[in-house]
Amino acid sequence: MDIILLGAPGAGKGTQAKVLEEHTGLVHVASGDLFRAALRQGTELGMLAKSYMDRGALVPDEVVIRMIIERISRPDCSSGVLFDGFPRTSDQARALEHELAAYGRRIDVVIYLKVPDAVLLRRIAGRQTCKTCGSTYNMYYFPSKRLDVCDECGGRLYQRSDDTMETARHRLEVYFAQTMPLIAYFREQGSLLEIDGQQEISLVTDTMIRGLSGVATRHR
Ligand code: ADP
Ligand code: ADP
Ligand code: ZN
Repeated sequence: MDIILLGAPGAGKGTQAKVLEEHTGLVHVASGDLFRAALRQGTELGMLAKSYMDRGALVPDEVVIRMIIERISRPDCSSGVLFDGFPRTSDQARALEHELAAYGRRIDVVIYLKVPDAVLLRRIAGRQTCKTCGSTYNMYYFPSKRLDVCDECGGRLYQRSDDTMETARHRLEVYFAQTMPLIAYFREQGSLLEIDGQQEISLVTDTMIRGLSGVATRHR
């Protein structure tokens, strides 16, 4: 299966991807994580992406598409991928469909995590990310047991430089303009699974997994 996690910044895509990855055995491919890893390695791609990310703008389609196509060509992605943060534009969606078709695959399910704007801003502004393992916490909703220390691995927690209120507001605008149209597109295709992402984390997970097993049954 190939699954897309769709939703605004802060909707909970990364959080749910971690659980789904274990549940489905699919490989988690997060475009934002790939850019941040490239930046840590000091590559040209990382530097280029940073100039867009810091402004809360989208990295140009051709750059993102090239990176994702390269990533899914690797053997670990051959039996299915859990896409997180990609596609974010119609051109990216079409490029992905085209690429998957070349492997005889298609986008099976698009999980849309729906969350009201006011909640999104608080989630983004309160997000803390582990430097070592990438786990996320939230100062308001889901704090780590020890301040600034990861429960999972003891690593240091930091705030992403694009997780300020001002950049977050701009990212939401970009999401409404560029990514929202994908919801209607996938709904028309019949692949959209709409989930109330405002529930607490474990309830979102339960709803999502129940929804997915419904889809799997229909596919049989
Ligand atoms: P995304 O990957 O969609 O940007 P994240 O999974 O990183 O979103 O979640 C954004 C922030 O909101 C994180 O701080 C995370 O801990 C928190 N969060 C995620 N899901 C929920 C939820 N259901 N309820 C409350 N907080 C949540
Ligand atoms: P979030 O899930 O909180 O929105 P991400 O980690 O997915 O954050 O993305 C962070 C930034 O990386 C985006 O604001 C954008 O600059 C860049 N980015 C990630 N994925 C894409 C994409 N598919 N297309 C264009 N830019 C992207
Ligand atoms: Zn950690």
